[in-house]
Amino acid sequence: MGRFLSSASLITTATIACSEPPAKVVASSAEEPSGAGKVEQSETSRGGSHEPRFAQGERGAEPPRAASAPMTTNDPSATYRARLVEQIARRSEPWPGERWDPRVLEAMRTVPRHAFVPGVSFSLAYDDMPQPIGNGQTISQPTVVAMMTQALALDRNAKLLEIGTGSGYHAAVVSMLAKEVYTIEIHESLATNARETLESLGYRNVHVRHGDGYAGWPEHAPFDRILLTAAPPTLPDTLVEQLAEGGILVAPVGPAGGLQQLVRYRKHGGKLAEEDLGAVMFVPMVRGE
Ligand code: SAH
Repeated sequence: MGRFLSSASLITTATIACSEPPAKVVASSAEEPSGAGKVEQSETSRGGSHEPRFAQGERGAEPPRAASAPMTTNDPSATYRARLVEQIARRSEPWPGERWDPRVLEAMRTVPRHAFVPGVSFSLAYDDMPQPIGNGQTISQPTVVAMMTQALALDRNAKLLEIGTGSGYHAAVVSMLAKEVYTIEIHESLATNARETLESLGYRNVHVRHGDGYAGWPEHAPFDRILLTAAPPTLPDTLVEQLAEGGILVAPVGPAGGLQQLVRYRKHGGKLAEEDLGAVMFVPMVRGE
């Protein structure tokens, strides 16, 4: 297998305000996520005794909500998550001129990232770094997940399409702030794993499809929000067509293996206005067979 790309890392601090020295906060673009073999197995995640569950009443027809989905009080991963969120919030602005939305931080504090990266310790799962998830793909750096989630400006009525399910973690985070989440993954085994993880944790408003995100999900279009977690060289027309009027699309756009720009697009009168949110590095959005 080739090198992992350091998916979804912040690359510069020039365009993204950062209150800490870059070495502490910014994942290096040359970072190669370490394999699961190096970690302490005593703290393993999926299926382990520490796996958090939503409290009984939270797992019915209603999706989990940031305000009302407490983890069980004896959940040892909560401490790691709280520390991660403190670290994210230390970057006082997700991008210049923007303050962190407490709802986004609460979602980050609630979703058990370790359940989406099986076989790694809590400390690695809650490190602000990408981690390998199989098929040469990575789960994004938590700070980037938080930034992109905030950039989507979600509300509880939003129908969202995500391209690049990966582990399902980012889908879980946005599902806490949206109504329905439709997510597409090109690798079948990743789609299957993500579906199982999301189901086992009770995220009932996330729908996973194995397929090529370049086609979008026409049966459920238009979408109020679209999130790309793999980088296309240019924004795919099909996805722009599937974005509702007044909708927001957040995507890393740029060359495979190089620096990309994280862009927020808003659709008004059929036209797109764009806002540059900083330099990032994501795995490429590949074309299906
Ligand atoms: N959001 C994920 C991480 C995404 S990594 C998480 O939270 O874990 C990017 C993902 O995009 C990879 O899993 C990759 O397989 C997927 N991908 C790449 N090209 C794609 C395409 N054309 N359609 C759907 N998924 C794609």
